[in-house]
Amino acid sequence: MRRLTEVAPGVLVATSSFQLTTTTVVADGDGGCLLIDPGVTVAELAQLAADLRDLGLRPTAGWSTHPHWDHVLWSAKLGVVPRYATPAAVAVAKAGRAELAREAQRDAPGHDFRLLARLTPLDATAIGWDGPEARLIVHDGHAPGHGAVFLPGSGVLVAGDMCSDVEIPLLDLAAADPLGDYRAGLERLASVRGVRHVVPGHGSVGDADEFRRRLAADASYLDALMLGRPFSDPRLRGPQWLRDAHEEQVRHVGRPGS
Ligand SMILES: [Zn+2]
Repeated sequence: MRRLTEVAPGVLVATSSFQLTTTTVVADGDGGCLLIDPGVTVAELAQLAADLRDLGLRPTAGWSTHPHWDHVLWSAKLGVVPRYATPAAVAVAKAGRAELAREAQRDAPGHDFRLLARLTPLDATAIGWDGPEARLIVHDGHAPGHGAVFLPGSGVLVAGDMCSDVEIPLLDLAAADPLGDYRAGLERLASVRGVRHVVPGHGSVGDADEFRRRLAADASYLDALMLGRPFSDPRLRGPQWLRDAHEEQVRHVGRPGS
């Protein structure tokens, strides 16, 4: 894991060895912190807890951007705090806990499954906590009830599994309109004013220009998918699982009636 790096005052990001998954820490200025998508391996969560202790930061709240296994993890070492997600995300996570546990065990074995996806629904426009304003941007692109977090004070957008430099847009193929949902999600993110840093769920942190570039790259990918055009997206040179997901999306979107 790449250890915690400050990307803006009071906002730190760690990057996992598993698919470059990011963990974001937002300090409240009073010794507490908000943890967004802490992950991924058991050892990395233990390291995160130790690093936070060294920094004098105690988790006071958690946020899961969406109900996929690598975004709903926790460790007893991080303490007992309310862990929030959108109501739709909580419902999906609750219904799919057994599958989430299987996936976690396959790719990051050894987690305490009693702590997996123990989420409280938060139906709000911002996370209610003692730290800097943390606005929620909710949409159904990638997963139901996907909640990105925007910190207007520092200009940091924690985008969840969108705006990645290493992953193509991954659609929620179980939805009635996966492409439409994803486009709506991108539009919501694009409408956020004052983004100076974008933290994707997987990949590297980008600046304002890079945020705009990624939005455009994602829109181009969706256009090619919808229109059956050739793809020139460099992210498709990524790992096999990503190319498989891409092929599945091409098949799905190309199916009559979808
Ligand atoms: Zn995801």
